[in-house]
Parts: sequence; C-alpha cells; structure tokens
Amino acid sequence: MLSLHTSPLEQPGTGDAGGMNVYVSQTATEMARRGVEVEVFTRATSSDQPPVAELAPGVLVRHIPAGPFEPLGRDELTAQLCAFTAGVLRAEAFHEPGYYDLIHSHYWLSGQAGWLARDRWGVPLVHTAHTLAKVKNAALAEGDTPEPRTRVIGEEQVVAEADCLVANTRVEARELIELYDADPHAVHAIPPGVDLDRFTPGSRSAARRALGLPRDAIVLAFAGRIQPLKAPDVLLLAAAEMLRERPELASRLVVLIVGGPSGTGLEQPQALRELAVSLGIEEQTRFMPPQPGRALVDVYRAADLVAVPSYNESFGLVALEAQACGTPVIAAEVGGLPVAVPHGVSGLLVPSHDPKDWAGALANVALRPGRRAELSANAVVHAQRFSWRRTTDRLLDTYAQATGAFRRALEQRAEVAV
Ligand code: UDP
Repeated sequence: MLSLHTSPLEQPGTGDAGGMNVYVSQTATEMARRGVEVEVFTRATSSDQPPVAELAPGVLVRHIPAGPFEPLGRDELTAQLCAFTAGVLRAEAFHEPGYYDLIHSHYWLSGQAGWLARDRWGVPLVHTAHTLAKVKNAALAEGDTPEPRTRVIGEEQVVAEADCLVANTRVEARELIELYDADPHAVHAIPPGVDLDRFTPGSRSAARRALGLPRDAIVLAFAGRIQPLKAPDVLLLAAAEMLRERPELASRLVVLIVGGPSGTGLEQPQALRELAVSLGIEEQTRFMPPQPGRALVDVYRAADLVAVPSYNESFGLVALEAQACGTPVIAAEVGGLPVAVPHGVSGLLVPSHDPKDWAGALANVALRPGRRAELSANAVVHAQRFSWRRTTDRLLDTYAQATGAFRRALEQRAEVAV
C-alpha cells in the first residue's frame, strides 16, 4: 500500500490524518489476519522514525526519506514525488524480483508513485482516491480555497493509469466515471467499515461521568479534522440558533468539538473558538484535542447526537462509528453520507447548511427522547451492515480480479509479440 502524505501510525483527527489513515490501518491489519502480508510506504516526517515499523503482525510501515524530516503541506509534496517513488523502488530492489504482488495506492499523490512502480514491477495498480478535487471544488464552503489544477491533472492521470479504482460508494463511482472519464469496468464501489469490536453501545451516564459532563446535559458532538470543508461552524451556528429559540436550554446544552486544525483550517486555527465567543456560546462549547479511538467511544456514547455537517464527504467514518455506539447522526445530505446515514432511520439528513435548518434537525432528535431512542436502536442495526472484515473481503476479491486481468493482458501482449 502506498500512503505518501500521511501514515497509518499517526493519530487521526488533525492535520492530514483522518479517515484514510483509519482505512489503511484497518484494511491492512485485516488482510494480515488472513495471511496477506502488507507493507505500507509512507514519507518519513522525522529523523526519529525507524526505516521500518510494525503496525500489527504482518503489517510493516516503511518510512521513505523524501524531502525534509518534517511535515509538509500537500502542495509541497508534489515536489517530493520523485524522491518518494525512488525510495519505494529502492526498497523493492533489495528483494528478489516479484516480491510484491499488487500495489494499492491511497490518494492521488500515492497514485502517481504507484503508477511508476506498477510499470517497473509488472503488477496491477489498484487506486483509492478518498477525495476528488473536482467534487470538492464544486461544493466549497464560502471563502474556502479551491483545490489546485495540479491536483486535478494528477488525479486524471492516475484514473487513466490505474488498473482498478476503488470508490467508497456508487455516488463516488459515478463521479469517477462522469467527471474523470474512468472506465466503468475498472471502478468497484466498496463501502468502508467500522470497528464493531471497539465502537459498541454502552452506558451514556458512565460516558458522561468519564468526560465530566452533567448527567442531564443535552450533548451535541462533532469529531473530525477542523477545517471549513467539515463545517463544524454550522454546528456552532445551529446551537446558537437553538438557544435563541429556547433560552431555557442554556444551562444544559453542551457542544463537544473533538479534533484539531487541518487543511485550510490551519490558516486560522482559532477561528472556531472565536466563533463560539462571538455567538455567546463559549460556555456551552467544549473543545477537545484529537482523541484515540477508545476515548472517542465515550464521546459518541455521551452525545445525544453526532453532527456531520460537511460540505463534501466521500463517506464519513465518524457517522458510522457514532451509529455503532447507538448515537443518531445528523448529517449533511452530500457525497456518501446518505449511504452512511439512512434518513429518518438512524438519523436525519439536512439538505442545506442553513443554521436554522440545522437547529430544527438537532432539536428534532436531541429534545425528543422517544424519537432519539428509536433512531438510536436503528443506528446500531444499521452500523452492523458495515465492517472492516466485509470491506477487506471485497478488496481482496478486487485484488484477485485485477491480478487475473493484468496477467491475461500480459499474456495477450506476449502472444501478439510472438
Ligand atoms: N478520529 C479520531 N480522533 C479524533 C477525531 C477523529 O481518531 O479526535 C478519527 C475517526 O474515528 C474517524 C476518522 O478520524 O475514523 C475521520 O474519518 P472521517 O471519514 O469521518 O473523515 P475524514 O478524516 O476522512 O475526512
């Protein structure tokens, strides 16, 4: 697996670490459990990192020096593509030829490296985009910076070169075909999963105690990378609207924001805190730094609902994790979120980002215990339909198909040559 711009060893929820890190780490670990050894290549960001680290039995992470030993922005990473790819090729050259059977690249930067490695090694390239610039740019938050043209071109190249493309949903599969001219036969829609052993329903009051929250609070939670695209500001604006309509809730309402600045959010890391102050809800808003998965369980269990107000989301792992803990989700009706959250079953989809609409949806669930209980029970059932085991089954099937097709194409080319 190639994961150039972020390592599965990093804590998700800030900077470049998010759902993709969880995806790579969970699928690699699950593959290794089935005897498929995985090596994840990522760029070294510190001289303290060992050249090779074990993520789990059967999963190695290779830190490839490419540029300075420090985190680099995504725009700076394009200049390190050659160095990174050279490092990947050199690592392979230490082995007998034919050491790797298949390359799975994650995000377009890795796809660029994967494309060359595929040609050198004569193995198929499977690629997962995770997000697409054209889709992101079509749904930007007001004032947010669009993704650069270099990325659009780079993505188009990877889509044209990959032997197989994995999309999170059918919506994303269609985007690859319609916006990027992908070969429909090469695109496989495979939903991501959720760790059903970790994210389980549990005592709400125990979780609130663990977080120091009052038993009778009304808790609205957001977890994820803090950036305009994720729209945590919509949750704050909606919470303020809720309080305007129902001032009596002021002493009970708690808005939990879990995560750290990321992407264009790094330009103004204090913006969300300042917004809470300007809305007069600083007392109700509690910011928590990125939490490891086991601590997020308490956040999800403590919450009356989890909000996912993103402008775009190729899937939204947080939405599944919350549901697996029995917490209804209020999500924007964009991208893969309608797959992650069936409207009216385990949560609500909001077709706009208007704080008034959001305040209505939040109140509809958080202030009606009967309704919440119904959605909560359905949420657990819905989340059971997704698991990393299932995702990995489908990925391994896709790998087998890609390998078969690749070998057949090689044989045909050899016959033509004869
Ligand atoms: N996450 C985490 N700690 C945090 C916030 C988020 O571990 O404090 C994880 C979360 O559990 C989820 C991932 O980060 O698995 C975010 O994935 P999602 O698909 O929701 O968003 P993305 O980061 O891919 O945009």
